[in-house]
Amino acid sequence: MKQKIINMNIFSFTAHFDSEEACRFHFKEQRDKQGIICKKCGHTEHYWKKDKWSYECKSCGFRTSLRSGTIMQNSNLPFLIWYKTMFLMSTTKKGFSAKEIQRQLGFKRYEPVWAMVHKLRKAMGKRDDRYTLEGMIELDEGYFTVESSEIDKQKGKRGRGAAGKQNVAIMAESTPLEDLETGEKSKHVRYFKAKVLDTHQAEELNKTIEGSFNEKSIVFTDKSTSYVDISDYVELHITEKSGKETTQDTLKWVHIFISNAKRNLLGNYHKIKGKYLQLYLNEFVYKLNRRYFGEQLFDRVIVASITGS
Ligand SMILES: [Zn+2]
Repeated sequence: MKQKIINMNIFSFTAHFDSEEACRFHFKEQRDKQGIICKKCGHTEHYWKKDKWSYECKSCGFRTSLRSGTIMQNSNLPFLIWYKTMFLMSTTKKGFSAKEIQRQLGFKRYEPVWAMVHKLRKAMGKRDDRYTLEGMIELDEGYFTVESSEIDKQKGKRGRGAAGKQNVAIMAESTPLEDLETGEKSKHVRYFKAKVLDTHQAEELNKTIEGSFNEKSIVFTDKSTSYVDISDYVELHITEKSGKETTQDTLKWVHIFISNAKRNLLGNYHKIKGKYLQLYLNEFVYKLNRRYFGEQLFDRVIVASITGS
């Protein structure tokens, strides 16, 4: 039976998910589609024990709760709270801070909300990590302002890795197009990735590239020394001297990404700790990559919450 997709707005959300039970049933339906694997014996067929809200392995009898193996595994929060949060996070392009979500949920304590939101951001990142970029790719680094950690202060980091700035590798699938009649040039952009780099060493960047790009890709960068070995991992590496041309043309989309991401993060979170920057970027990239999904984004976030633990 084909599952109908619910286009989600505040009215349909409250109509569909008016109780804890409604959320649980929906979550089970989504989990069934992903399939359940027995942790003990690897069997994939299960009975559903309604009274226990658990699956029971047909082979060994091992029980798997509805939450087990999902990002809700260690959470005491009701499904309804998770659902409301996933709705809030998927309903705006801009995003909400955990503080704002706490306010919307009417929660007294901040910590459980903060933990839930970060788990969702982590799951979004894991979902995007499944895909590698291909074709023509722009690559550059952006420097994001973060609250410097105590460790950085002790180390007295300077220069490119200076406390207060975190470098991030930004990657965008971007195919140049030329209109044959008018000769007008444009670029078709698809998926993005953003990976926080802890060091400024070529080795770390190479690893990031190896894990993010299809080996048949063509990569465009400026002439930074960190990029010397890229050709070992991809089909072709084209470098250009930094200048107006690279900013406006060759690396156009990574630069648009960097300025939009900075504005978004600054607007939502004010101050970001370096160790959480990747999580905030996960959410930003996840939504950007699904920018044409509209109200179906909510469904996708639920899938990510099932598979992203
Ligand atoms: Zn089993």
